[in-house]
Amino acid sequence: GEGTRLQKVLAQAGVASRRAAEELIAQGRVEVDGAIVTEQGLRIDPNTAVVRVDGTRIVIAAELVHLALNKPRGWQSTMSDDLGRPCVGDIVAERVAAGQRLFHVGRLDADTEGLLLLTNDGDLAHRLMHPSYEVSKTYLATVAGEVARGIGKQLRAGVELEDGIARADSFTVRGINEGKSLVELTLHEGRKHIVRRLLDAVGHPVIRLVRTDIGPVALGDQRPGTLRALNRAEVGGLY
Ligand code: URA
Repeated sequence: GEGTRLQKVLAQAGVASRRAAEELIAQGRVEVDGAIVTEQGLRIDPNTAVVRVDGTRIVIAAELVHLALNKPRGWQSTMSDDLGRPCVGDIVAERVAAGQRLFHVGRLDADTEGLLLLTNDGDLAHRLMHPSYEVSKTYLATVAGEVARGIGKQLRAGVELEDGIARADSFTVRGINEGKSLVELTLHEGRKHIVRRLLDAVGHPVIRLVRTDIGPVALGDQRPGTLRALNRAEVGGLY
């Protein structure tokens, strides 16, 4: 059919997940062009429809935006910061049209550098952060200590953390030098501080952590503090 399903439009605008958007519709809280809609699956033209939730008009993006940011160390990965610390929102402000929102896909610790995806597709951001979606993420970590053989096997088998087992899909030693090691690991989960906790648990506290890949998107040689638009193949790979 023509147009986009109403629940998808609501999810993309960041109002709620698709499921929760269906509930809003069922509860009679969603209005299209002045009329309450309670049926599911109505297709609308997102470019022309006026959609309100609880009476408030939602902003529908004319175009989907997908950006890769190389987050510098020390920056909060949020769009605003109550304490006035530097945050990702400061970098992206000029890349978003008035009234539009950009969502960060997951978070990086302030101390972590590297790839953070940003999109105005709230539905995509929500799905990529969902544990069942399992997009793989690769990190380059400088750790204290010289990693012994067998650490990779241990990390792939799974390590017991206070909130359950965590596992690396792959683990590679890139270098060992003067009591430190450079290691690369891939995981497909996003619990808070997961990489730091995992490496701590095997006796190698993290000194520096950089996220280099999220699914089909690689950081490459993108400079810290810069944004770039994802190409078609990368965007396609995320959906
Ligand atoms: N794991 C961490 O420990 N920190 C991050 O920022 C991301 C993953």
